Amino acid sequence: MNCIFCKIIAREIPSEIILETDTILVIKDIRPKAPIHYLILPKKHTPDIQSLSKDDLSIATDIFSVAQQLSHQLPGSQAFRLVSNNGAEIGQIVFHIHIHFIAGQRMSDL
Ligand code: AMP
Ligand code: ZN
Repeated sequence: MNCIFCKIIAREIPSEIILETDTILVIKDIRPKAPIHYLILPKKHTPDIQSLSKDDLSIATDIFSVAQQLSHQLPGSQAFRLVSNNGAEIGQIVFHIHIHFIAGQRMSDL
């Protein structure tokens, strides 16, 4: 499959890995928009949240669990923001579900 995040998950393309679980890989965003900007990638390829089957909705729990782990590793404040673009019209560029984990910058400063 010609999906850049599947290739990162398969280690065919290099990335800066932050954390890995059975179902999720967390990498640094290549073009960070905040002091801390990670991407939470479910390992199973699904283009967007709209396409998730009922059987795969447990990934949402895995994503929140990983977000908690990441927040505990933050220097200083454990405050963070999660963002997920779903659909080209809203600005999704990579069509493999990913959640932006952003910290160290207030929403109003973007
Ligand atoms: P979006 O689909 O709009 O949520 O944006 C995709 C995000 O993936 C952008 O923030 C990109 O900087 C990031 N990105 C694209 N290619 C890579 C890559 N090879 N490694 C890490 N991040 C990437
Ligand atoms: Zn993929």
